[in-house]
Amino acid sequence: DLVRVSRALISVSDKTGLVELGKALAAHGVEILSTGGTAKALSEAGVPVKEVADHTGFPEIMDGRVKTLHPAIHGGLLALRDNPEHVAAMEKHAIASIDLLVVNLYPFESTLASGAGYDDCVENIDIGGPAMIRAASKNHGHVATVVDPEDYAELIAELDANKGATSYALRRKLAAVAYARTSAYDSAISTWLAAEIGDTYPRRITFSGAKPQIMRYGENPHQSAAYYSSGDPRPGVGNAEQIQGKELSFNNLNDTDAAFELVAEFDEKPAIAIIKHANPCGVAVADDLATAYKRAFACDTVSAFGGIIAANRKLDGATAEEISKIFTEVIIAPEADEDALKVLAAKKNLRLLLTHGMPDPSAAARTVRNVAGGYLVQDKDNGRVTAADLKVVTKRQPTERELADMLMAFRVCKHVKSNAIIYVKDGATVGIGAGQMSRVDSARIAASKSRDMAEAAGASQPGTIGSVVASDAFFPFADGLLSAAEAGATAVIQPGGSMRDDEVIAAADEKGLAMVMTGMRHFRH
Ligand code: 5GP
Repeated sequence: DLVRVSRALISVSDKTGLVELGKALAAHGVEILSTGGTAKALSEAGVPVKEVADHTGFPEIMDGRVKTLHPAIHGGLLALRDNPEHVAAMEKHAIASIDLLVVNLYPFESTLASGAGYDDCVENIDIGGPAMIRAASKNHGHVATVVDPEDYAELIAELDANKGATSYALRRKLAAVAYARTSAYDSAISTWLAAEIGDTYPRRITFSGAKPQIMRYGENPHQSAAYYSSGDPRPGVGNAEQIQGKELSFNNLNDTDAAFELVAEFDEKPAIAIIKHANPCGVAVADDLATAYKRAFACDTVSAFGGIIAANRKLDGATAEEISKIFTEVIIAPEADEDALKVLAAKKNLRLLLTHGMPDPSAAARTVRNVAGGYLVQDKDNGRVTAADLKVVTKRQPTERELADMLMAFRVCKHVKSNAIIYVKDGATVGIGAGQMSRVDSARIAASKSRDMAEAAGASQPGTIGSVVASDAFFPFADGLLSAAEAGATAVIQPGGSMRDDEVIAAADEKGLAMVMTGMRHFRH
């Protein structure tokens, strides 16, 4: 799969590293073809070079708009060297093969960023460059394409190592880089043109070939918004089938995603999550879905109103009946049976989504969010703590029941805005503290909510009595843990790793709590 480079075409706007590259190629006996400015820079540095115009017999015309757009160039880049018809065509039309293409494009992005006028920006849309990049990259079986001066060193090293040849592995890797470049380039042009005509959401064709869904509005009515498919075909909110109900809003989609990803964590048992403002207000697992719903609802019967409900099993009639008792915005489930569909059909405004499968919570994915000037990209948090990962740090060992509840609580934590404190008893959350700036406040809020619920239900004691508690990150001080102990928690699961772990462990021992450390944290900001 080694291809010896006999002829290279270099056409670059950014001349960084050009002369060194030209010299290295010349040393390997490579014939270099170049466009006007590039040829000038090379020959001034003493590197032998042939002008593309001399090679094709056709001059650069129209201020350089047409320089390399010629069959002698594109045929030389695209011909399959092992295809007799291609080879015959090359001979017939006197087309010489080109084995290496080095191009970087007219600086459209920096021209735009410099505040240049409209016509200047248009003139900086490169045409021949992307055409050659796409041609050469398509033919990566035979041709290497370099679009970034940072890759010159690797190319030269490979030529040196292989007597002037490139490997298939490198050509294929460079082709992927090359298409990323042309894609980003055209995307920048499209975004600019759309903005010029006041269209924030151009009807751009996305990766999947699908057009973005323009929404009525974003998080608030004065914000416009759209949904763009990433083309990922796996089950999830973006690919769900809407069975009934009004159009999904921006907030609906965001919250429904949070709900569904959360229930997907519980593959072993039927689970329900009720979400408000992207945080759960109740989560439960049980032997059947209806029981899971009732227990999830009981965690916070006030917040559940107008919530989003996710199920990880086929929705049945009994569960649908329970859900129908209050107003719900959206239900999402993998499937629904006939009874459930009949019950829910009576609720005209309720949006019902079926995904025909569950997401794999351990699958690798990326998350993107934007900050001024750029994007933050990271791996999705698909970390999952199992019983084997836990380290008991207290004198008392947790019981089996505490252990099961702790693992559940910690999984819920992952889906709750930090600081997250989750109380769980017998497979159901009984107190959730989310999004507070201090951990101790989250602990207090979760416990006080649980007391309110008990009072409203006329129960003798709040649900947190005899519960376990999970914290998404370590307790920096003993106060958060003491607050949980006061609420009646008997066992604690947390990552550990605080400077004051010893203090926190001593406090747990003093209160007779069992505590385990996970070594993994689940921040969600
Ligand atoms: P040079 O400085 O060598 O005169 O021009 C190099 C630039 O021309 C490169 O950025 C390359 O992508 C671009 N280019 C090469 N061929 C063509 C063409 O046929 N049309 C246009 N518009 N640009 C080209």
